[in-house]
Amino acid sequence: MQSSWQVAGSTRVAAVIGHPIHHSISPVIHNAAFRALDLDWVFTAFEVAPGRGAAAVDGARDLGLAGLSVTMPHKADVVRALDRLSPTAETLGAVNTIVRNGTREFVGDNTDGAGFLDALRKDEGFEPAGRRCLVVGAGGAARAVVVALAEAGASEVIVANRTVERAEEAASLAPNLARSGSPEEADAADLVVNATPQGMAGDRTLPVPASSLGPGQLVVDLVYHPALTPLVEAARERGAAAANGLGMLIHQAAHAFRLWTGEDPPLEVMSAAALADLALRD
Ligand code: NAP
Repeated sequence: MQSSWQVAGSTRVAAVIGHPIHHSISPVIHNAAFRALDLDWVFTAFEVAPGRGAAAVDGARDLGLAGLSVTMPHKADVVRALDRLSPTAETLGAVNTIVRNGTREFVGDNTDGAGFLDALRKDEGFEPAGRRCLVVGAGGAARAVVVALAEAGASEVIVANRTVERAEEAASLAPNLARSGSPEEADAADLVVNATPQGMAGDRTLPVPASSLGPGQLVVDLVYHPALTPLVEAARERGAAAANGLGMLIHQAAHAFRLWTGEDPPLEVMSAAALADLALRD
């Protein structure tokens, strides 16, 4: 941590836009990383009303912002304000990271899937190639995970969602590999991923039956607050390996950090800053 760090006229500004945004942990993670590497950057958060995401990106371009993170509900809306999309963002139709290229060009990317795969491989030692995977949920996070698992060579990806049509739509992102299915199919999966909000804020419902979990499986809950989610707890009780969503959060932020600054992200600093901030919220 640099004691001499201060914001000056030369400081490059990056930010997250979303609604609501006051709970975002991104400023804590990125500012810790900027300070650790002594970079003249600062990261802040902007509350942007639903439907105003594209307008906010146009404003950010004129203000000279050096990079943006994008969260709910703007991930699809900002696409029309961008000059180019990465192939992943194009496939998903959703952007979580905007990178400035030169003076005015804004390029949209999506680092959620890459962050998820890094968390699997680097933090959990799990290689998805050839594995059978069940993803519960069909929203933005689930779609990024489905595409990432397909690209990583999973043998099958089953998408289980409350609204079946949305599960089918998410599965269609990985044709011939993914299909819609039911949460009970967790019992035959090597990897089980919760990409719904179930387990957040006192919700004790489980996205899959506890009886379908057991030894030999990895269970990843994309929820990271509380740290010990009901699903993680149930999985461990049944002998499965389990992790919450903090790993994905840190690794997707690390990919964004690298895209913006060109520097290697200080993962341990980012993780420690996130953990310290989350501990204050309990
Ligand atoms: P989203 O686009 O709003 O999608 C939410 C999904 O959850 C939908 O498929 C929805 O089903 C389902 N769902 C919502 N409430 C449910 C309930 N009570 N019971 C069963 N299913 C329910 O949200 P998202 O952006 O994909 O985020 C999903 C979760 O992942 C959130 O908890 C979010 O915090 C987490 N997340 C974590 C990270 C990370 O880095 N760790 C990154 C992104 C998201 P319907 O289609 O039927 O509405």
